[in-house]
Amino acid sequence: MYLCYVDESGTSDIPGNSSHFILAGLSIPIWNWKSCDQEIDRIKRRYDLCEAEIHIAWILRPYLEQTKISDFDKLNYVQRRSAVEAYRKSEILRLQRSKKPKLLKQTKKNFQKTNSYIHLTYMERKKFIFDVANAISKWRDARLFAECVDKVFFDPVKAGKPIDEQAFEQLVSRFEQFLQLTGTDASHQNGLIIHDHNQTVSRKLTDMMKRFHQTGTLWTSIEKIIETPLFVDSQLTSMVQIADVCAYALRRYLENNEEELFDLIFSRADRKDGKVVGVRHFTNLSCSCKICRAHRKV
Ligand SMILES: [Zn+2]
Repeated sequence: MYLCYVDESGTSDIPGNSSHFILAGLSIPIWNWKSCDQEIDRIKRRYDLCEAEIHIAWILRPYLEQTKISDFDKLNYVQRRSAVEAYRKSEILRLQRSKKPKLLKQTKKNFQKTNSYIHLTYMERKKFIFDVANAISKWRDARLFAECVDKVFFDPVKAGKPIDEQAFEQLVSRFEQFLQLTGTDASHQNGLIIHDHNQTVSRKLTDMMKRFHQTGTLWTSIEKIIETPLFVDSQLTSMVQIADVCAYALRRYLENNEEELFDLIFSRADRKDGKVVGVRHFTNLSCSCKICRAHRKV
């Protein structure tokens, strides 16, 4: 049996604040689950992040206050945390006095979302994410599936469905096809989708999956994937946080040409006869990015 952890990056709204919407799933066989989960825990422990969620977009932001604390990198973790917290407290008080409720609300949110990581310098946070991606790249039985939609080229009317639904249908189809081609022992072939819990999509994806079980997707019947997606709290489940890292790495490569994380993650893309079949970049035909080149390769 295989578990496929799914998460998204970017917004499916058009135009929204990102040019791409990415839905990514990382599949691992259940007999590797424990060692993968433990490896991520070990990496987290090295950076004193045991209780923290790996939410990459918040981890990799510049934290302005760190640059304002002298010799920040020479302090130990406890001293750094205390210095940042003191700075943040005074910043909140300042904003409360300045009567800018919108900015105050946004700042409070930023502080809350990044609080778990403030004891790490930017370089350390980058290294942490690199260590996680590097670990994933070595999981030989892991397979990456993803639909990367360039929203400029997506026409919901022509597609007959919104971006997020189209992406989910593609992902389910590719995971199903992988399962159908993998192994001969029946117990090896089933799959379960595990999705980051998200109130707005859980009902929709559950209904879609029920429909796929009855009538198939546009590309395949569903025989190997069981049940509707299992929704879990990403704060509590390291492995679903890994899907966030995968989706982020794909988006940052396509939008900003950042290759370091992408190359590690993309090495796990599902391939058949040397051609990448698990990951697709939905864009113009002339795109020559690494995904399109690997997808076209014959
Ligand atoms: Zn491309």
